[in-house]
Amino acid sequence: MKRKVGDIVKSLEDIVGQEWVITEREYMESYLRDETPDVLRPSAAEDLILVKPSSTKEVSQILKTANQMRVPVFPVGGRTGLVGGSVPTEPGIILSLERMNKIEVDKENLMAIAEAGATLGDLIKAAEDADLFFPLHPGDEGAQIGGLISTNAGGVRAVKYGVMRNYVKGIEIVLPTGEILNLGGRLIKNNTGYDLMHLIIGSEGTLCVITKAILKLYPKSGYSVTLVLPFNSRADAIRAVPKILQSGVIPLAVEYVGIKELNKAAKHLSEEWPVQSADAQLIIILSGSSEDEVYSDCEKISEIAEENNAGEALIAETREEQERILRIRSNIYTALKPDMVDILDVTVPMNRLGDLMDEIDKIAERYGVYLPVYGHAGDGNLHIHLMKKNGEVPSYIEEIRDEIYSVGIRLGGVITGEHGIGKIRIEKVSKVLAEKEISLMREIKRIFDPNNILNPGKVLPSN
Ligand SMILES: Cc1cc2nc3c(=O)[nH]c(=O)nc-3n(C[C@H](O)[C@H](O)[C@H](O)COP(=O)(O)OP(=O)(O)OC[C@H]3O[C@@H](n4cnc5c(N)ncnc54)[C@H](O)[C@@H]3O)c2cc1C
Repeated sequence: MKRKVGDIVKSLEDIVGQEWVITEREYMESYLRDETPDVLRPSAAEDLILVKPSSTKEVSQILKTANQMRVPVFPVGGRTGLVGGSVPTEPGIILSLERMNKIEVDKENLMAIAEAGATLGDLIKAAEDADLFFPLHPGDEGAQIGGLISTNAGGVRAVKYGVMRNYVKGIEIVLPTGEILNLGGRLIKNNTGYDLMHLIIGSEGTLCVITKAILKLYPKSGYSVTLVLPFNSRADAIRAVPKILQSGVIPLAVEYVGIKELNKAAKHLSEEWPVQSADAQLIIILSGSSEDEVYSDCEKISEIAEENNAGEALIAETREEQERILRIRSNIYTALKPDMVDILDVTVPMNRLGDLMDEIDKIAERYGVYLPVYGHAGDGNLHIHLMKKNGEVPSYIEEIRDEIYSVGIRLGGVITGEHGIGKIRIEKVSKVLAEKEISLMREIKRIFDPNNILNPGKVLPSN
């Protein structure tokens, strides 16, 4: 690779201009890692070149050149991923689209046309400025459109509007050959041939580079409230979730959280969690077109909560208070991170969530470890943290992880509902997917990327 790096730098400079090709390690440090906990994050390779194109045409020329020279390309977004997906693990090119960050809002069609380097925060703001709403909210607003699509991100607000896949109506992509394709469009219906767009959503940078997307927006909901419901026990809280969803109310979010983790997150932010009356809590976000509609939903939920032994609810109405609650919830991960070994995102059918939690308690007890568990209860998607014990990584951590995965699969679930496979989950793929599925996926990878230059060594186990 050493010789190739020298050869390719000149070609890349000719494409994007000298100032956008970075070869000094000290100026690319933040591109060498994502948010995967330190213990697990794969190491970045030596001999890397960071390139920042400004247009799809430049991305196309970069990929064509890399493909001809058989140089690996690692597309990176906001590097907020949790599975080492964007880490450049082989010598090659780090491709950052951060300069491609324009967003245009098509108000008539309720869609945004966003370049892949725009951040989630930028998109939320652009929608709001146009009096519209982009509901998706995985915890870190620094994630970029390309990363959100490549990981099919979820987050707290998937109950009502779904995951990233539900928002994407069109994408512009560049294949490793440099060919540019537009898939989908500003359309609600499209049944023309195989759906390549949905194949690419969630493909974690292994099939193509996404340069632009057409994303569904929603009218701003006129009114919203956030409820914090304290329950007598976790079992009560989890039992209430399907009942709430069966009642006809469709909340924006239904999150299960424990007081210990909430207090840690609040402390981390120098704030205080406002409800201290019970360990097990549900955070429910409701939105609707009028105050009456939202309050009628609130009443229905309060009745169900009461029937399931909930204490007095906190009803947050002001925007500031609602944002504070979401901010504290979103920071549980960051607060736990220093002592964390791994964050799992096992997903099971929603009605098996309680069983999954009970089994995880048994595993924690058997190994004598603290396994904080919280997450997107309305989606059956749980975040289970594997933690250090007395500051050390327990020697039996792999056994704990495998036991949790086995329980999740036995309950009809999968090992990841949101974060994907990236680099760190590759060895576990065959626990969930049949050999035939994996071999079909390998064939698809070969068709898109015959020279294996795009994000090599990610998602699929080697033969
Ligand atoms: C505090 C915190 C909370 C989080 N909460 C959630 C959550 O609730 N739900 C959830 O789903 N995730 C969550 N995440 C994970 C993360 O934010 C998402 O996976 C996000 O979608 C990653 O986007 P990114 O731009 O940071 O991508 P990166 O981490 O930079 O990359 C992720 C993958 O996308 C590929 N990629 C990036 N850009 C492109 C492109 N233009 N073309 C092709 N491939 C590309 C990369 O190669 C890599 O494989 C959380 C992370 C943090 C730190």
